[in-house]
Amino acid sequence: MGFEAVIGLEIHAQLSTKTKIFCGCSTAAGASANTHVCQVCLGYPGVLPVLNHAAVDLAATAALALGCDLHPVSIFARKNYFYPDLPKGYQISQYDRPIATGGALVVDSGAGPVRVGITRIHMEEDAGKSVHDAADADRKTSLDFNRSGVPLIEIVSEPDLRTAADAAAYFEALRTLLTWIGVNDGNMEEGSLRCDANVSVRPRGTEAFGTKVEVKNLNSFRFLQKAIEFEVDRQVDVIESGGRVVQETRLFDSDTGVTVSMRSKEDAHDYRYFPDPDLPPVVLAPERLARIRSAMPELPDARRARFVSAYGLPAYDAAQLTHQKALADLFEATVAAGAAPKPVSNWLMGEWTRLLKDRELTVEASPVQAAALAGLLALIDAGTINTATAKGVLEQMFATGRSAAAIVEAEGLAQIDDDAQVEGFIAAVLAEHADAVASYRAGKAASFGFLVGQVMKRAAGKANPTRVTALLTRALTP
Ligand code: ADP
Ligand code: ZN
Ligand code: MG
Repeated sequence: MGFEAVIGLEIHAQLSTKTKIFCGCSTAAGASANTHVCQVCLGYPGVLPVLNHAAVDLAATAALALGCDLHPVSIFARKNYFYPDLPKGYQISQYDRPIATGGALVVDSGAGPVRVGITRIHMEEDAGKSVHDAADADRKTSLDFNRSGVPLIEIVSEPDLRTAADAAAYFEALRTLLTWIGVNDGNMEEGSLRCDANVSVRPRGTEAFGTKVEVKNLNSFRFLQKAIEFEVDRQVDVIESGGRVVQETRLFDSDTGVTVSMRSKEDAHDYRYFPDPDLPPVVLAPERLARIRSAMPELPDARRARFVSAYGLPAYDAAQLTHQKALADLFEATVAAGAAPKPVSNWLMGEWTRLLKDRELTVEASPVQAAALAGLLALIDAGTINTATAKGVLEQMFATGRSAAAIVEAEGLAQIDDDAQVEGFIAAVLAEHADAVASYRAGKAASFGFLVGQVMKRAAGKANPTRVTALLTRALTP
């Protein structure tokens, strides 16, 4: 009969504020444990939270970018539960009056576009972190409250996804969007973007949803995909062997690739939500909304379409270049510096990215920016260097930060543009490789490539391959 998966994602994104959501403590990652804490984020009695408006602006920015209905009034509520890393005994979150509802993101993992509805976006504070020391003989757990009170948004999707690949594509598209608009830093290893996957299965062709299982805290696209694939297979096995899927929360073990049961899932009423009496409603005034709207950059989808229409780029190139705002900016700046769009795209997607990855650098930190890259492409365009030489030059540009022209000049890399000199190399090669000449004449096309290679070798790679081909063809024509 066959089963179909139904998947909805809940994504937690840290809002890129300098300070926490209800106090002035720093949100910077990597500090020693419990150094970014105060009475508010440690939940001391008698203290009062004060809302950080920068967090609200970022949440509103995300909501607008996802096409949500942004609510002029939203309410913070207390979500009550006990956990050692939650010192107040409740988390401040939003419940029945979130900042935004509705909206959608269209994604494509290769099987065609899928519209993923956004159910809601709400603001909340992060909890602290429990550190379980397995190596410790007493099996102690330590607590670090640096993250306690860090502002988050939770983006809840509709159960619109049907495959693990589309789910991963959605998570990735959301990361691109949130980093693009400066709402989130995209750092999944540090936990500033993480995902819970809700997964159920149903017989193909039926309407009713099956019982869902929630897989918590997936912090990479690959783990998300693997966890869903495992979970779908597991649920189908349970049903086919006559069992029933139980509603529960599971954890994914990335070492073994399996999900394991963590706890049965609480219902919302178990949290005894109620409006936080310490916090007034969040009000978004029209002027404030207008300011947020006008600060919105051109979004990835629009920019991708424009790269195709304005620069004539293939759809594939446009998609690659709009994966990151900084890369899209660099592409346009290089074109503005005089280079032709398609070569810029080729170099950015190819050698340039390879060298960047080798050095583990971000786009912003690349030693080769727009003017430098345009300078290199101008030398190719003018015939001063060929493509093979240019690759070496780019590598030196990354290593030294010098311009292409300076490197070509200093190392004498300019192409030989004197035909007579190239003809001299050709004569020598033909004399030396009479056997290859004979086999070429006997119809073996590969011998021509060999001879070109030999001429290039004599020219120390500095001859223009097009010229070599033309002159060699002439020399070989009886
Ligand atoms: P809960 O109250 O258990 O958190 P919600 O209704 O709030 O459940 O949904 C949480 C997430 O689970 C949403 O992303 C939603 O799309 C998804 N979801 C809901 N029902 C199902 C289902 N049967 N199968 C898969 N995902 C589901
Ligand atoms: Zn604090
Ligand atoms: Mg929920």
